[in-house]
Amino acid sequence: MTRIALAIHGGCGVMPEDSMTPEEWEGARHDLAAALRAGYALLKAGARAVDAVEAAVVVMEDSPHFNAGHGAALNENGLHELDASIMDGATLEAGAISASQAIRNPIKAARALMEDGHAVFLTGPAADRFAEAKGLDVRPQSYFTKQKQVAALAAMKAHAAAGTEGTENEKHGTVGAVALDADGHLAAATSTGGYNNKPEGRVGDSPVIGAGTYARDGVCAVSGTGKGEFFIRYVVGHEIASRVAYLKQDLASATDGVVNRDLAPYHIGAGLVAIDAAGVVVAPYNTLGMFRGWVTPEGRAFVATHGKIHEVTL
Ligand code: ASP
Repeated sequence: MTRIALAIHGGCGVMPEDSMTPEEWEGARHDLAAALRAGYALLKAGARAVDAVEAAVVVMEDSPHFNAGHGAALNENGLHELDASIMDGATLEAGAISASQAIRNPIKAARALMEDGHAVFLTGPAADRFAEAKGLDVRPQSYFTKQKQVAALAAMKAHAAAGTEGTENEKHGTVGAVALDADGHLAAATSTGGYNNKPEGRVGDSPVIGAGTYARDGVCAVSGTGKGEFFIRYVVGHEIASRVAYLKQDLASATDGVVNRDLAPYHIGAGLVAIDAAGVVVAPYNTLGMFRGWVTPEGRAFVATHGKIHEVTL
């Protein structure tokens, strides 16, 4: 039996301390810990890595603290368009949905599509119809809307009118998870509302296999957060896996090379969680903070938003 391990993120950003109340920071850490518990309980019971990453992401999609599912960002028309994907490193099977306007847990639809196997990627109303046909929970747009995102959209529109830059906080966020199971299999899952004021129909990296999500047994699993256009251009998840597989880089060097060197010239927010075949976990980011958490192969669990790391009980 290999050692099990899990890592999650809830998005990166500038995240000034005063952008949320102490209760909100605490609430976000609480929900990160809940996501870790959901995923780790499955891993410990011998479930597959792909089950663990789905379960962890579902908790964060249901949380109001993160930009995915309930609490997702709004596009330029004030609508939620949700993207998600999941990949099983054991088989390289994957499922992805984009621009969903109704699926309560987009990651469940991505998983259902992966299991269904007739397509890897469904978008828009077809993704919503697929989810409904599979018996997944669909909700009105109002379910996804939090006042925080309404205010952030208004701020982004004001910035656009004034020709100024919005804060990373107003812009984006995402949730994701990577895991190694007891049989040595890897998996990754990512879910997002994209960023506030995004163009209608814009699809980011999160549902793009190889960009925002990638998993391959014996190599690594990656889930990204940050300006998706650059994650697509650099095919970040697959790029990291390639460095590990072909250049024989360790995970820390491979991820650091992409996040802190390749993407540096663009001055974009970027972060990710990744795990290798031995259960080594990394969570690099180039912003002031990233919501994140991980369980070590020794079974110790940690959550963090900025530099300070909090140990939590499983
Ligand atoms: N990567 C996401 C996207 O571009 C947003 C984020 O993670 O901040 O849709």
